[in-house]
Amino acid sequence: MATEVLRSDLERPVIVWLRDDLRLSDNPALTAAANCGRRIICAFVHDEESEGVRPLGGAARWWLHGALREMDDALRGLGGRLCVHRGVASVVIPQLAADSEAAAVYWNRRYGAAERHVDEAVKTTLKAQRIEARSFNGHLLYEPWSIKTGSGTPFRVFSAFWRAAHGVGEPGQPLGVPARLNLFHGPCGQASTTGVELADLALEPTSPDWAGGLRSNWRRGEAGAQARLEFFLNEHLHEYADLRDFPDRSATSRLSPYLRFGNISPRQLWHAAEAAANATTSLRVHQNLEKFRSELGWREFSYHLLYHNPEIATQNLQSKFDQMPWRSDADALRAWQQGKTGYPIIDAGMRELWTTGWMHNRVRMVVASFLVKHLLIDWRQGEAWFWDTLVDADPANNAASWQWVAGSGADAAPYFRVFNPVLQGEKFDPDGRYVKRWLPELDGVSSSVVHRPWQLGNNVEAYAERIVEHGLARQRALDAFKGLG
Ligand code: FAD
Repeated sequence: MATEVLRSDLERPVIVWLRDDLRLSDNPALTAAANCGRRIICAFVHDEESEGVRPLGGAARWWLHGALREMDDALRGLGGRLCVHRGVASVVIPQLAADSEAAAVYWNRRYGAAERHVDEAVKTTLKAQRIEARSFNGHLLYEPWSIKTGSGTPFRVFSAFWRAAHGVGEPGQPLGVPARLNLFHGPCGQASTTGVELADLALEPTSPDWAGGLRSNWRRGEAGAQARLEFFLNEHLHEYADLRDFPDRSATSRLSPYLRFGNISPRQLWHAAEAAANATTSLRVHQNLEKFRSELGWREFSYHLLYHNPEIATQNLQSKFDQMPWRSDADALRAWQQGKTGYPIIDAGMRELWTTGWMHNRVRMVVASFLVKHLLIDWRQGEAWFWDTLVDADPANNAASWQWVAGSGADAAPYFRVFNPVLQGEKFDPDGRYVKRWLPELDGVSSSVVHRPWQLGNNVEAYAERIVEHGLARQRALDAFKGLG
C-alpha cells in the first residue's frame, strides 16, 4: 500500500512557473524540478489584471513574444512545450496545479511589490491545497535583503553597497541546462485553465507594424543572448573600461534586454567575463573585468532600491523634489520624444531608441538630463516614454536611473550638474559618427561643428532648430532647484 501511494505521488507533475527567467540554463527553479524526478509542466501566465502589476510597454511586449517563442522551441527540442495562459496569476496557477494534480510549483523570485504580492497569494493558496510551493533566486547576484548596512538598514549609496556586496562573497557558479528533463508535452490545462496560443496574447504589433527596426537589430531569447555574450567577450571586454562611454564604438555588451527577461542570468555574465579575462594577457584586463562587473552592480543596486522603495517609479526618493516646479509643455515633450530638439546628441539618441528599442548608456544619461533640466519636464514623463520604447524597460533600472539623473534619487547625480549636450557630444562622439548614423540631415557636416550645426547658418536647413538655448535653460534649472531649499 505504502509503495503504491509513493508511486502514484511520484507520477504527479511539478509546474515550473516561468516569468522573467525565460531560459533553460542557470534556471534554479527548472533545475530543482529536474532534480525531483517528476514530469515538468513549464507554464507562463500573461497577467495584465493583477492589482498594481504595471503593463509592459510596446517594445518590451515585442521582446517577450520572441522570448516566449524561443523558449517554446527550446522545450520542444527536448520533447516538451511551453504552456501559455492568460489571466490573474494568483488564480490561474493554483487552478492549473489542481487540474494537473501537480505535487509542486517552483518559480524564480521577482522583487517589485505588486509581483511579490501575487507570488505570496499563490504560495498561500497552494499551501492550502497541500501543494508544495518553492521559490529561488534566478535574477540577481545578491538578493536585496542579503546586503545591509552595519545598522541593518538598506543602502542608499552605490559605492558602499558594492563594497558590502563584495564582503558577502563571490556569486555562486551558474547551473547548466539540466541533464535530464522529463518534460510534459500534452495539451495545456483543462477546461478552467485552457492554454492559449502565443499569438492570442497579441504581444507583437500588427497594424501598424512598427517593429521592423527592432527585428533587424535583435535576436531574442536564450540562444541570442549566448551569441551576444560570446561576441562581447571576444570583441569588446578587453576595451570595455576605455570605450564604454563612446556611443559610436558599440563597446558595451547590449545584453540588457536579455537580462531584463532572464534570457541570460547575471551569474552567467559574472563568471563568463572572469573566464574570458583569465584567458587573455591584456594589460588592463583587471580594470575591464571590474568595470563590467560594477555595471552589473548598478543593476543589483537598482533592485535593492526597488525592493526597499516599492514606489520608486512614481515617487521621488528625496521628498524635497515633490516641490519641483515642473513645466507642462506638450510641444517640447513631443520634440524630445521624436528627436527634434535641435541638439544632435539628443536627437540621435531618441531616434536610435525609436528605431531599435535601445540606447547607449551615455546617451541615455544625456537625453534624460536634457528632459529634466533643460526642459524642466518631470522625470516620470521620461521614465514612461522609456518604459514604452525600450526593449530592456526594467522595473528597477529604469526608475532608479531616471531618479539618479533627475537628482531626486538615492546617491543621485547632484542637481547642479547639468550636462551640456554640445560638450557631451564633442567629448563622447568626437567624429560625429554616432549622430550622423541617426541624423541623415547632418550628412556631410564637418565633425568640428556637427554637434553645433546652428553655427552653419542655413546650410543644414533640414535639421530642427534648437528648442531651448543651453545657457538660459541651465540657469532656469538651477533657479528651480534653488527654490527647493
Ligand atoms: P553594459 O555596459 O554591457 O552593462 C552590462 C549590464 O549591466 C547591462 O546590460 C545592465 O543590465 C547593467 N547596467 C549597465 N549600466 C547600468 C546602469 N547604469 N544602471 C543599472 N544597470 C546597468 N537599463 C536597463 O536594463 N533597463 C532600463 O530600463 C534602463 N533605463 C535607463 C534609463 C536611464 C535614464 C538611464 C540613464 C539608464 C538606464 N538603464 C537601463 C541603464 C543602462 O543605460 C543600461 O542598462 C545599459 O545601457 C544597457 O546596455 P548594455 O547591456 O550594453 O550595458
